Amino acid sequence: MVRAVVGANWGDEGKGKITDMLAENSDIVVRFQGGSNAGHTIINDYGKFALHLLPSGVFHENIYNIIGNGVALNIPYLLKELNDVVSRGVKQPHLLVSDRAQVMMPYHILLDTYEEERLAGHSFGSTRSGIAPFYSDKYAKIGFQVNELFEDEDDLRAKVENVLAIKNTLIVNLYHKDPLDPDEVMKELHEYRDMIEPYVCDTSAFLHEAIKNNKTILLEGQLGSLKDPDFGIYPMVTSSPTVASYGAIGAGIPGYEIKDVIAVTKAYSSAVGAGEFVSEIFGEEADELRRRGGDAGEFGATTGRPRRMGWFDAVATRYGCRVQGATEAALTVLDVLGYLDELKVCVGYEIDGKVTRDFPVTRLLKKAKPVYKTLPGWKSEIRGITRYEDLPVECRDYIDFIEKEIEVPITMVSNGPKRNEIIRRR
Ligand code: GDP
Repeated sequence: MVRAVVGANWGDEGKGKITDMLAENSDIVVRFQGGSNAGHTIINDYGKFALHLLPSGVFHENIYNIIGNGVALNIPYLLKELNDVVSRGVKQPHLLVSDRAQVMMPYHILLDTYEEERLAGHSFGSTRSGIAPFYSDKYAKIGFQVNELFEDEDDLRAKVENVLAIKNTLIVNLYHKDPLDPDEVMKELHEYRDMIEPYVCDTSAFLHEAIKNNKTILLEGQLGSLKDPDFGIYPMVTSSPTVASYGAIGAGIPGYEIKDVIAVTKAYSSAVGAGEFVSEIFGEEADELRRRGGDAGEFGATTGRPRRMGWFDAVATRYGCRVQGATEAALTVLDVLGYLDELKVCVGYEIDGKVTRDFPVTRLLKKAKPVYKTLPGWKSEIRGITRYEDLPVECRDYIDFIEKEIEVPITMVSNGPKRNEIIRRR
């Protein structure tokens, strides 16, 4: 059985916690897209971890963790993260890396950085992890698959020289920086090859066997629906699909095998980086929610940047669940809202004087003003509660209201950052 855990919003919904929790009953956890450009915060018996590239199954001894072909594989970063986890007492995880995954090259990170500098005030707010140049090269067919690291020396060198001819044209003429040296790049590729060799295999074939043997496979998404390059707030999106259906491609399994899609959504909104955010709040109201949010305030797991804050956006989340093909939803970080006298939920967007419940394209989104419904707060601490019936009635009303709006059953409510702080609803 294959299930996917994905974000219904802008990312940072708490997918790491839900994946870590569900991993307990899984055999395999697969990362299928993105790279080290976003982080999952996981708090468990080993401590607090911010994972960027490692799948969230690494804390469970028996689980196979897979870096699928769809991932932007930063090899030194992956191994550093692996060493960090092991140095903190976690048993050496089973890690498999697809021989078809593409390699994040050092110049991808350079080019990402140079381009953000060039764009200055108009930048995309990239984390400068090389993601956009990486995926551009993949689809321009000048990327390097992991298996190519094991290519004959002369063939590899010829490809490097060919690619550098393109890269150096940009680096010298557009960015006015020193050109890259093919000898240096070859040296780096050799180092990458030696580092990754123990983990490389045909992960698609491995998953095929696992499916035949009825193993439980978890596909772990990064970021969320609204950062998807097709369905998100283009161009303020990421460069690989964040939707669950891409999980099949990025892991190398048939689409029809994904039986369950858990869309994770936070009980309020937060976003990092630039882009449209209709239910955003500002000033002291936002500062207080940011301070209280998450497990230690709403600050980026990768960059430490303060996240932008807002009320729960039912328009964006219903759409986010729809494009994910969500079969169920997990509502997280609900405990944080216990201080509020009342809560707002964005139930419509007013665009050119008309109210819509449909999430529009970016051109119209720019004009959208939030239409709110106000609900009473529950004014109490809900951490520690384990049964749904024991939640305050106002809190249950809030959950019911959101469930009706997003049109997906909320099967899990997370009321604390720890693995066991979860209320199963059905
Ligand atoms: P991800 O990328 O979707 O995994 O999300 P992040 O890890 O970036 O952000 C979620 C934050 O919320 C992390 O700091 C988590 O520890 C925290 N978190 C997750 N679930 C809960 C919850 O139910 N309550 C609280 N207070 N924090 C939570």
